Amino acid sequence: METNQSVNSRMDSDLEVLEMDLSKKNSSDRKSDLMTSGGQKSVETESGDPSTENMIYRAKLRDRKRIVVKVGSSSLLHSSTGRLDYHKIDVLVRELSDLKNRGKDVILVSSGATAVGREVIRRTHAGTTLAEDSPITVKQACSAVGQARLMMTYQRFFTDYNQISGQVLMTKNTIGDPLSKYNLCNTFNELLKFDVIPIVNENDSVATYEYSVGDNDNLSAMVASLMNADLLILLSDVDGLYTDDPRVNPDATFIEYVPRLDENLMKMAKGTTGSSSGTGGMSTKLQAAMIATQSGCDMVIVNSRHMKVIHEVVQGRNHGTLFRANLNPDFDLQDHLESME
Ligand code: GLU
Repeated sequence: METNQSVNSRMDSDLEVLEMDLSKKNSSDRKSDLMTSGGQKSVETESGDPSTENMIYRAKLRDRKRIVVKVGSSSLLHSSTGRLDYHKIDVLVRELSDLKNRGKDVILVSSGATAVGREVIRRTHAGTTLAEDSPITVKQACSAVGQARLMMTYQRFFTDYNQISGQVLMTKNTIGDPLSKYNLCNTFNELLKFDVIPIVNENDSVATYEYSVGDNDNLSAMVASLMNADLLILLSDVDGLYTDDPRVNPDATFIEYVPRLDENLMKMAKGTTGSSSGTGGMSTKLQAAMIATQSGCDMVIVNSRHMKVIHEVVQGRNHGTLFRANLNPDFDLQDHLESME
């Protein structure tokens, strides 16, 4: 059986060959290189060979040290019942625990509080429907119940894998207020020093519209930016970025590599993923990519159908859409937050 070490050294030598090939290519090859053999599309790059550049760049993800993983509500629940999918949570926790054992700093941003709490209250109050568009006060109550339930579940699984996890709840105010932001960063730093896996969510039970980030795609990118993470993985119920909505347009092409996020790509975003339990659509994912990449952090959107995809992404395998870090020294998270209002 092939070991991780032999896979890595095989990939290293493959990549050396690819890097040599790439350096030999001349610019006249560029246009034909835009489409990859799988019908997938990468965006035109400076080197002119996006699919090769994608593979070379992805191999570097193995060296990323501080990784933020964001999981959405729909990835944690059985769609048929709305209850927690323990099998998926188990694999998610195992993957994160293994990254930790490899010496990485790991931060999990998990949604699910409202959806889990809603399901618990529905079950204990027969006849209560608790529609998804119920008033904010109801959602806040659901999230108070669900957040505790979610943490209890994570704690149990992380304990099984000999890991310590801790809860960090925040709102937009936590980042906007300098003292709260200072405290938040100190807490994260201490937790990481103690080898704890912080589990982050929005503090939904106290956040009303004007105080909340609203979606955990943006929240996870803010955490990645604040904590100087070098890789953000958004686990989603979509495969990644397409040129159009693939459910509506059969000609939509998948984009595997985005070397630089520009206005054209931002416009490709759609407002929904088709999921009923979370809030993040493709547009929030691209907003997150803007924050992450300008903060110098690579970001990958990947389908959470199989949670083992996490270690495969970190190994450099070609899953989902990779947005390459483009550190902008003028990027200021606080200004950016204000511009989003
Ligand atoms: N913070 C919300 C929750 O845990 C989810 C937000 C989102 O879906 O992005 O219920």
